[in-house]
Amino acid sequence: MPAQIGVTGLAVMGANLARNFARNGYTVALHNRSVEKTDALLAAHGGEGDFVRTETLAELVDALEVPRRVLIMVKAGTPVDSVIEQLVPLLEEGDIVIDAGNSHYEDTRRREAALAEKGLHFVGIGVSGGEEGALLGPSIMPGGSRESYDALGPLLEKISAKVDGEPCCAWIGTDGAGHFVKMVHNGIEYADMQVIGEAYDLLRSGAGIGPAEQAGIFEEWNKGELASFLIEITAEVLAHVDAKTGAPFVDVIVDSAGQKGTGRWTVVSALELGSPVSAIAESVFARGLSSQRDQRSRAQGALAGGEAEVQLPVEFVEDVRQALYASKLVSYAQGLDMLTSAAAEYGWDLKLDEIASLWRGGCIIRAELLKEITGAYAAGERPANLLLAPAFRDAIAAALPAWRRVVSTAVQLGIPVPVFSASLAYYDGLRRDRLPAALTQGLRDLFGAHTYGRVDAEGTFHTLWSGDKSEVAAVDTH
Ligand code: NDP
Repeated sequence: MPAQIGVTGLAVMGANLARNFARNGYTVALHNRSVEKTDALLAAHGGEGDFVRTETLAELVDALEVPRRVLIMVKAGTPVDSVIEQLVPLLEEGDIVIDAGNSHYEDTRRREAALAEKGLHFVGIGVSGGEEGALLGPSIMPGGSRESYDALGPLLEKISAKVDGEPCCAWIGTDGAGHFVKMVHNGIEYADMQVIGEAYDLLRSGAGIGPAEQAGIFEEWNKGELASFLIEITAEVLAHVDAKTGAPFVDVIVDSAGQKGTGRWTVVSALELGSPVSAIAESVFARGLSSQRDQRSRAQGALAGGEAEVQLPVEFVEDVRQALYASKLVSYAQGLDMLTSAAAEYGWDLKLDEIASLWRGGCIIRAELLKEITGAYAAGERPANLLLAPAFRDAIAAALPAWRRVVSTAVQLGIPVPVFSASLAYYDGLRRDRLPAALTQGLRDLFGAHTYGRVDAEGTFHTLWSGDKSEVAAVDTH
């Protein structure tokens, strides 16, 4: 019987996805550049379903039903191009090449256009959930043509995570849309983890609450509006004790956060789109600062703190919880707003309710909150910004006094809270009647004749700064 899907690249992710397809009843053709991984997979898990062992890409292609679905799960970057190059001569019009790795969406756009010229479908899919998700049900964000989704979607939906019986997989949009949405998911994940870190730091350094006690606090928080995978595992990590030293595990970890690059990609794309994802950007920068260990150790003894004595309010822990919730909402609002900007730029019809819904299970940012976000965008009139959706507008209003208290307390205590404070600044910037951007425009016009608009007239103007300072109508030159 021909296989319904072929998987090439059987390292951790590819092997688990292949097993997931097989466990769901599909016949899966297996291929890896070095055949040892194929054999290791078959030896350990060959009994889980119907697998077809192949040694070459030609054999893999031959093993598949038409239209062929070949899923590439190799190292992101040039290996993907190399595999595509070898596959293309073996395929026929209408076949579907899938890249489920962490590729940059611009690479996906380029590959999709190149394969479309040859009559092939190229589908970049974002997969979130790590190793375990790939096996048990990830959150899946497929791009590519609608036609390719008709042939591929049912398989992806079958292996995806399910929430309330709904698959955490839906067609996102053409070409690189799937990888773009996955990238923004990761950007939100960076911010989500950073706000948790800031809350932990405030409770630890500000209120003197140790990791074990905090584990209980996070466990409690996980029962309310913050309920999410990341809060749940925060409790687990904080409760963990290092077997070697008996110290809290968190205290024996080097405080330098790694990054694989998707957070950075999000911020670079946001800068190109002019999208103000300040919370996400600050979370990427926070990891950068954490990694500058040499500078940090020199600064420790050298730079003054000037911290003030602060009497913490009795409700400090609850304040931190509310600040965390409000900041988290802002990072989701910024990420979703970035999707709206990208949709306009790339001609994607991104459905924010569906995207929020498929993030509800399988992925790292899965959270109760996403149910409400789905509802906010599914309602008749889509909010211009998530924070304007009635439920969230009211939630932030309720959290605001605590949020302001926490940010100002952190500043007084000298505890860095870059995402708590950037989120609050974004919120205040969004709601502000007049921004100092008016002054910026005045300065730009003076030094560079960049022109400005007037609040009381249509058009673009320039003041003759080096002349008699009269105003003239101008052509907008930016
Ligand atoms: P790796 O990224 O470690 O890649 C190893 C695989 O790529 C092996 O099968 C290897 O073959 C193959 N490979 C490398 N170079 C080539 C090449 N030039 N030609 C053919 N095959 C090549 O595997 P992972 O499973 O960790 O990740 C796969 C993808 O999934 C990556 O894009 C990664 O970023 C992404 N990923 C996603 C995660 C998620 O949560 N969604 C988590 C982890 C990864 P060989 O055995 O012959 O060396």
